Amino acid sequence: DLFYRQVPKVELHAHLNGSVSFETMETLIKRKPHLNIEHSTTAIRRGQRRSLDECFQVFKVIHQLVDSEEDILMVAKAVIQEFAADGVKYLELRSTPREVTETGLTKQRCIETVLEAIRQCKQEEVDIDVRFLVAVDRRHGPVVAMETVKLAEDFLLSSDGVVVGLDLSGDPTVGHGKDLLSALEKAKNCGLKLALHLSEVPSQRDESELLLNLPPDRIGHGTFLHPEVGGADSLVDKVCKQNIPIEMCLTSNVKGQTVPSYDKHHFQYWYKRGHPCVLCTDDKGVFCTDLSQEYQLAASTFGLTQEAMWMLSQQAIGYTFAPEPIKQRLEKKWAELKQQIL
Ligand code: 5GP
Repeated sequence: DLFYRQVPKVELHAHLNGSVSFETMETLIKRKPHLNIEHSTTAIRRGQRRSLDECFQVFKVIHQLVDSEEDILMVAKAVIQEFAADGVKYLELRSTPREVTETGLTKQRCIETVLEAIRQCKQEEVDIDVRFLVAVDRRHGPVVAMETVKLAEDFLLSSDGVVVGLDLSGDPTVGHGKDLLSALEKAKNCGLKLALHLSEVPSQRDESELLLNLPPDRIGHGTFLHPEVGGADSLVDKVCKQNIPIEMCLTSNVKGQTVPSYDKHHFQYWYKRGHPCVLCTDDKGVFCTDLSQEYQLAASTFGLTQEAMWMLSQQAIGYTFAPEPIKQRLEKKWAELKQQIL
């Protein structure tokens, strides 16, 4: 639908390596024929479902394909251009810095290379404002988490406002947030905004209870926070009292089978309460979607008008980690475009 492509959008939950498009993936596979990777193993097509565990296997394959500075620069530029082409005007990308001995890739260079991609896109006047969240993979435990926070802290000071926060992601069935609490507290204290994946699976209830006390600045998914799905009133209370926006990824959750069907998505629960919700893609490459499609899907599933969808996109400006003047610039852009589009 042309309308959803035209609506200016804000993307706040996009993992770099999960966002690599079909076309870019093809280029990567051709570059590394010795890996013998089938294209079908890097994405979950229409109508397909996988367990969350299988989704995490997909990231392992993609990480084999994206393992050098050259690869990161290419995928990051392509991903930014694709979001811009889809009408995204403000993007917060997130990625886990990795070390690859064979190619000489370091965590530091990983981040620097994404920042270089952002800089090049800006220079090429791609119509999108891009910020970056350094991601902590929970699977790697507290020591790595603390190292990553220190790295993120350096970039917070040196990146001219491009690095704005920290993400906590990775396989939710591995590890416990209590071990990561001191790293997250440190991040918060030094001024990094926190976007944490919370209650992606039912077993994370105690962890969410703990991490909500930080509190995070935004919540990723939050699928099992509310009591109807085995969460708790106390969790809902904390989220509501602190008014913490929730990043919602419909296709990702349905394809990853943490949500049984679109109409059962927890977007409904929170949206009805007037709680801050923001529609996001999560991994547009892996889940074969884009943000326009997510908007269209939410509108058709929950019977929302174009006006309501416009509001949803505009309100997301307030949930970004951008400084106030940038938010104002975005508000102005939305106001101008509204007359043309709505
Ligand atoms: P990267 O950080 O390498 O740019 O993007 C891929 C990584 O993002 C995955 O290895 C995983 O740690 C994280 N990720 C992507 N999608 C999801 C998701 O749906 N849930 C969680 N918990 N982590 C994810």
